[in-house]
Amino acid sequence: MTTSPPRLAGPLEAATAIRPEREAVDPPTAEGHETRDARRISIALDDVSKVYPNGRRALADVDLVVPDGDFVFIVGPSGAGKSTLIKLLIRDELPTSGTVFVAGRDVRRLSRRDVPRLRRSVGIVFQDYKLLPNKSVYDNVAFALEVTGTPGRQIRSAVDRVLSLVGLTAAAGQFPSQLSGGEQQRTAIARALVHEPRVVIADEPTGNLDPLISWEIIQLLLRINELGTTVLMATHNAEVVTALRRRVVALEDGRVVRDEVGGYHREY
Ligand code: ADP
Repeated sequence: MTTSPPRLAGPLEAATAIRPEREAVDPPTAEGHETRDARRISIALDDVSKVYPNGRRALADVDLVVPDGDFVFIVGPSGAGKSTLIKLLIRDELPTSGTVFVAGRDVRRLSRRDVPRLRRSVGIVFQDYKLLPNKSVYDNVAFALEVTGTPGRQIRSAVDRVLSLVGLTAAAGQFPSQLSGGEQQRTAIARALVHEPRVVIADEPTGNLDPLISWEIIQLLLRINELGTTVLMATHNAEVVTALRRRVVALEDGRVVRDEVGGYHREY
């Protein structure tokens, strides 16, 4: 494990405190594995390794604790394991060994019924937006609530709230092809927020955007973080990472090689 910044001492202790819960042999309860201590941690990876079926080791012995309300950059060269880490957090992949906690839940021990609940507590934003082309901005966001059975009367107020937050109220009736890249990414961020997630994970959210628009998207993610949501962002954007002086976790060959607050000086 790499040395963690001093300000993480409290949360690290909290992560230790959840270990007895994780090691309990009880089957999952209806309420999952949430504990009072675990609620203080958005994300915790404990000695996590991921080996793909072809033998490729994408992550090796990764320890990472992200307290509620943190803003963390994940950086590293292509192939370092950033996407694999994100896939573990949304249970797209399972770890080969080690434990992954997200929003107080051990992702490996989630029942089938708990998986949608996990995905509602984690909003995800991708580089290529992944909007539905035949739906308006409003409907792209509303759809995320419709598929989870949210009553219609709640949908309108929730969608209006997040569109206002991302500055797209006036564009609600537009279709993705009528939007700029930045507006499409704002729509995707609104969709990620509409369930009021505890964590937003952004995988290269500025990868397709020019520098000015990238800054706007980063400012929006910072604002969301200020409102209390944990943000974890994988990026190659050295300029942004250096300027913001936030926590930076650097991966290389699947290992955490640095975890500290401040910029990074290596071009990835
Ligand atoms: P990054 O997002 O930092 O570019 P990835 O997590 O995509 O890194 O990849 C880490 C390593 O795992 C790379 O060597 C990649 O080729 C390998 N890898 C990723 N996905 C798979 C997969 N589904 N099967 C086999 N190897 C994979």
